[in-house]
Amino acid sequence: MHTIGLIGGMSWESTAVYYRQINEMVRARLGGLASAKVTMQSLDFAEVVALQKTNRWDEAAALLSDAAKRLESAGADCILICTNTMHLVAGPVAASVGVPLIDIRSETAKTLAAAGKKRPLLLATRYTMEHGFYADYMRDGFGIEVVVPNEIDRAKVHSVIFDELCCGIVKDDSRNALEKIVQRGKDAGADSVILGCTEICLSLTDDNLALPMFDSTTIHSKAAVAHALGFDFASEQDAV
Ligand code: GLU
Repeated sequence: MHTIGLIGGMSWESTAVYYRQINEMVRARLGGLASAKVTMQSLDFAEVVALQKTNRWDEAAALLSDAAKRLESAGADCILICTNTMHLVAGPVAASVGVPLIDIRSETAKTLAAAGKKRPLLLATRYTMEHGFYADYMRDGFGIEVVVPNEIDRAKVHSVIFDELCCGIVKDDSRNALEKIVQRGKDAGADSVILGCTEICLSLTDDNLALPMFDSTTIHSKAAVAHALGFDFASEQDAV
């Protein structure tokens, strides 16, 4: 089994989900007492958010690259940035190490494409919804046309992420608001919804959603386990 390297803490609420899911998938696959080989760098999210808010993306890239190098030195065979937003600096982070970076955008796009989805609504932070690093990446690399919510809905999603979910607060009225945003996305022609922030799975499940849901946290965790165990989930749909 290969060792998975996680750059986490952004926020730790979702890194905890990654850790649990990765271990559950390895146990489901190998059985018995098997568990994942994981090494982690868990950052101080307050420091990361301060860099985001002041557009100091070069400093953020240096911070995450440093974490990636430490993971590589600790024996990681692959690196995951456990947040969609910080894929804004995925390029320099990937270039800073000799092991592969498993990109959350590419894994999500491949999963959408395999399901025949071409117009996903993107629920994410403002950075992810408004900078090109997500929508352009999916369009140019995979022919997927991301739909973003309107301005008011983007502000709501961003606030639910930072003021609630990243602080461990899960509110029913916010879940209802997110569900309504998904309905409006469907009305605007979206054929699916990407939970494009690794904390949104703490609130939304596919029970009441108007669109088929693609959770970036689960998709990313699966990709890590596939890499660690050396198999392809895509060819074994029901493996986990
Ligand atoms: N975890 C979130 C994401 O997937 C937001 C936290 C961040 O700004 O990194 O984008």
